[in-house]
Amino acid sequence: MDNQYRPKEIEAEAQAYWEQQQTFRAREDTGRPKYYCLSMFPYPSGRLHMGHVRNYTIGDVVSRYKRMQGYNVLQPMGWDAFGLPAENAAMERGVPPAAWTRENIAAMREQLKGLGFGYDWSRELATCDPDYYRWEQWLFTRLYRKGLVYRDTAAVNWDPVDQTVLANEQVIEGRGWRSGALVERREIPQWFLRITDYADELLEALDELEGWPEQVRNMQRNWIGRSEGVELSFDLAGRDEQLTVFTTRPDTLYGVTYMGLAPEHPISLELSEGNPAIAELVDEARSGGTAEADLATREKRGADTGLEAVHPLTGERIPVWVANFVLMEYGSGAVMAVPAHDQRDWEFASAYGLPIRPVVHPADGSELDISAGAFSDYGVLADSGPFSGMPSDRAFVAIAERLEGEGRGQRRVQYRLRDWGVSRQRYWGAPIPMIHCADCGPVPVPDDQLPVTLPEDVAISGSGSPIKSMPSFYETTCPECGGAAQRETDTFDTFMESSWYFARFACADQDSAMLDERADHWAPVDQYIGGIEHAVLHLLYARFYHKVLRDEGLVSSDEPFTRLLTQGMVLKDGTKMSKSKGNTVDPQELVERFGADTVRLFTMFAAPPDQSLEWSDSGVEGAYRFLRRLHGLVRDHVARGSAPALDPQALSDPQRDLRRKVHETIAKASDDIGKRFTFNTAIAAVMELCNALGKAGDDSDAGRAVMQEGLEAAVLILAPITPHLCHHLWFELGHTAPVVEAAWPEADEQALVRDEVELVVQVNGKLRGHVTLPADADEQQAREAALAEHNVQRFVADKEIRKVVFVPGKLINVVAK
Ligand SMILES: [Zn+2]
Repeated sequence: MDNQYRPKEIEAEAQAYWEQQQTFRAREDTGRPKYYCLSMFPYPSGRLHMGHVRNYTIGDVVSRYKRMQGYNVLQPMGWDAFGLPAENAAMERGVPPAAWTRENIAAMREQLKGLGFGYDWSRELATCDPDYYRWEQWLFTRLYRKGLVYRDTAAVNWDPVDQTVLANEQVIEGRGWRSGALVERREIPQWFLRITDYADELLEALDELEGWPEQVRNMQRNWIGRSEGVELSFDLAGRDEQLTVFTTRPDTLYGVTYMGLAPEHPISLELSEGNPAIAELVDEARSGGTAEADLATREKRGADTGLEAVHPLTGERIPVWVANFVLMEYGSGAVMAVPAHDQRDWEFASAYGLPIRPVVHPADGSELDISAGAFSDYGVLADSGPFSGMPSDRAFVAIAERLEGEGRGQRRVQYRLRDWGVSRQRYWGAPIPMIHCADCGPVPVPDDQLPVTLPEDVAISGSGSPIKSMPSFYETTCPECGGAAQRETDTFDTFMESSWYFARFACADQDSAMLDERADHWAPVDQYIGGIEHAVLHLLYARFYHKVLRDEGLVSSDEPFTRLLTQGMVLKDGTKMSKSKGNTVDPQELVERFGADTVRLFTMFAAPPDQSLEWSDSGVEGAYRFLRRLHGLVRDHVARGSAPALDPQALSDPQRDLRRKVHETIAKASDDIGKRFTFNTAIAAVMELCNALGKAGDDSDAGRAVMQEGLEAAVLILAPITPHLCHHLWFELGHTAPVVEAAWPEADEQALVRDEVELVVQVNGKLRGHVTLPADADEQQAREAALAEHNVQRFVADKEIRKVVFVPGKLINVVAK
């Protein structure tokens, strides 16, 4: 065996072995229970960063651990390959996005292989491959025919100089990131998926996702935002139309003092013609980007329309204002404002001197104070006509029934969740498989003309998608009437591709169907691992898509991911590693310097997977030193020849103690990993074990047999974490089958039994000494031993012994006076 620990050679050898044996190629017919472990696939940016390395190390360690537990493990890898960065890079470097993306994939694949991740590479997929996105196009046309797809206008960010639509992240302080021009909001036709049809199921099923962090489930609940309320209408004085609003607080109806209209409400647009104040609000709403967060934090501004609404219960006249905090996208673009009981309404009323009328008082009878802000809790109604004195919940029902009775309103459930707009006006994405015919309208591309392939050899200029000015792409004939027609030139939101890749991994080679029966064999994913930043969009879209696939008969499970682990961030100097902060560490340099096992060990040792990991150079060096020490222990042990067989009955006391340590370590590691995935404490236990093994220095036959067992346990427990070195050491320890085929070790209950225990001796509750007794000693023996102890004798010398309390295995307390 090599005298030195040489990770480069050991790692190359192990990786070549796995590749040659096709160790990680998953088969469906093994007869063992399946375990599908998946880490969120990366965007091929060019190089792995430490966040990737952490994510994929956790997934690989879980996969290898489950494999040792007897599961038939599938762990695939692929590429979330469409998206904006490729277009930006293409512009900077003058390379087509496809070429740039494929080069990056090749480079990152090598990096992943170098880290020793046990992926089934035969299932690799890239979402930019027509063989992949053709099935997404196929499904879209099916959903269109089923009515789950529709076309509507939606606002986009329009750059008037570059004549292009910008993504939200390309709008910087209201201006185009490239042109610097003021961005406009434009309404353009787009395609939508009816995710709201699944809102109830998406919400209710969250309760059963017990393997998900509660935080993520709550984020999804809030995003779906189910609220029960009343939809009611206000007449407009002097106009033959009504304002329809939705409120979750009908109990505050008597406190309405004004109405708010979105600047893009049809009435606002109409009045803006002759009213500069309203026109300004409309202009403002049309510029400055579409991000909802921007709108919410904008300074509250408004303008009086001069119109009056009529209160549906009191007949009172209420002023109608245009207000910039009212969103056209939510509800009807109109709200009833109750400034005494809604903070946003309160701020607006305070700014414009509108009346604030309290109608709900605290239920505990305390004084209502709305001088500094709204009182938005439930309470007891006042100044509310026949409803005064009712608690809010009863008033909710009574007022709703009254409105329903008068035909002025009805109870309704509303969701914050909007339908999913899947059109992007960008180039580097999957073409939306629709054809626009002047006579027939939109027509889905027939199955036999799929895929609609994205032309890849293009130049990106920055002013619009190249396929929008490419007649060879968009000129076509209508599948229905045969007349001249135009292809859709928008592409899919890239969340479309990441919403079903986990199912496609099960049958990535299937070229005549989207999925086959293997999808049902592997789905759902047993353990999914990725960042918390995907809590809402990706994880919600994927859940929705899975239900759509189910309803198409393509899978039979209801949910895609049984357990979810959101790994913590990688920090350096207390902040998240990022290029912009300049505090990154390049994993490749570390692998070259210390080896992949050191990087993997440090990553798993520095923190539990779900918590932040603080980078430490000395921690990395410490991990390396430990592996070198383990290597040295095995080297010195095997240099003495093969160890004799172990006879547990024939061990000396120190040998028995050391063997107990071995099995305590196995028990602790199994518990830490099996129950909590706390690999860090399992690693710490193995380090302690190695210290004990290193100190043993027992060259007897029995001593060497215990040493053999201890080193084997250390190698087995570490095998998922540092698989290369363990692969090497396992063979060195005399095994002929690779450690990757070995079973997870089990603690020997017999070895855990202690022959002797050390007991604490107290006198009147104070620690006065220790005694060592046989583990099965009875109270009489314990009492004698305690009273014989020298220091105890000093404290009881001239006293009368009243009582002796004996807690077996723990303590003896002598009560003396
Ligand atoms: Zn036609």
